[in-house]
Amino acid sequence: MRLVTEAVIVDTRVLKGASLARRLRNEIAAAKVHLAALGGATPILATLLVGDSAPALAYRASIDRTFRKVEIEHRPVELPATTSSDDLVAAVEALNGDPEITGILVLMPLPGVLDPHLILEHLSPLKDVDGITPTNAGRLHLGLPSLRPSTPAGGLQLLDFFNIELEGAKVTVIGRSNVVGRPMATLLTQRHATVTLCHRRTRDLAAEVRGADIVCIAAGSAGLVTPVMVKPGAVVLDFGVNVNEDGNIVGDADFEGLLGIAGAITPVPGGTGPVTALVLARNTLAAGFAALQGSLDVVLFELPDHLRLVTEER
Ligand code: ADP
Repeated sequence: MRLVTEAVIVDTRVLKGASLARRLRNEIAAAKVHLAALGGATPILATLLVGDSAPALAYRASIDRTFRKVEIEHRPVELPATTSSDDLVAAVEALNGDPEITGILVLMPLPGVLDPHLILEHLSPLKDVDGITPTNAGRLHLGLPSLRPSTPAGGLQLLDFFNIELEGAKVTVIGRSNVVGRPMATLLTQRHATVTLCHRRTRDLAAEVRGADIVCIAAGSAGLVTPVMVKPGAVVLDFGVNVNEDGNIVGDADFEGLLGIAGAITPVPGGTGPVTALVLARNTLAAGFAALQGSLDVVLFELPDHLRLVTEER
């Protein structure tokens, strides 16, 4: 018997971050005016860089570019790679206590000898713009207002912007880090998706991906998701940022190979990336609102309708 393979050709939508970025910039501008009208302090984000790790420097450069565009001050703080744990904690506490600073982001990775847990335990939850402290992470998982990690929060906004149905959808998330995969899975379950969370010890990653309507990838591994793994028509959201042999930035999915198979896919660069730093800017403003009230209960996820200036095309 001859085996006939039926080729499914799908018209793949490329989900670019730029159109959502325009909307976010408008919303940020409106929120800035609103915060000032309420008597809030001018928002300032402090980034703390310890040493000179290349990914940390790259992320800081992208934050700096984005914050210039939206005219929110970014104040880089630097400590030498030889910084002791006590000095790192002292630096975080100094920023906590500085009334001018509304948001604090500690750039990762830290030099190997420093335990990232130190940051989680000492950062003020009201200034924790990437939602990493136990307070914000706990509030997120409990469904309470909180400052949310920028990458997954931006990913969710991208899915919403392109009208991708989440309720009842089968979503496979690859990666369980506290800043991307795990909060992404939580946010998706809160939106009524059925979520499978995969990691290095997942037995059959291909099978978990194959069953998904939406695949969210945050593993930091170029080419991890290949065309044969993806159900035709599935949506692929790629958070990966990797440097390939040619020195180019590539995601975790085989973008070229998935064209004609995935129903929609985010490119790398140009997909989730441009949204992340903007969500961080928005979180810096959200922290400004929280500071005004001294409470995370007032963190704005969605701007009130009258502040939305959304006219762009999708
Ligand atoms: P990020 O900050 O982008 O989330 P991390 O390096 O902190 O990146 O986390 C990577 C995550 O990806 C981990 O949870 C790890 O288990 C998962 N991961 C890495 N490689 C694979 C793989 N080959 N298969 C499945 N999961 C993977």
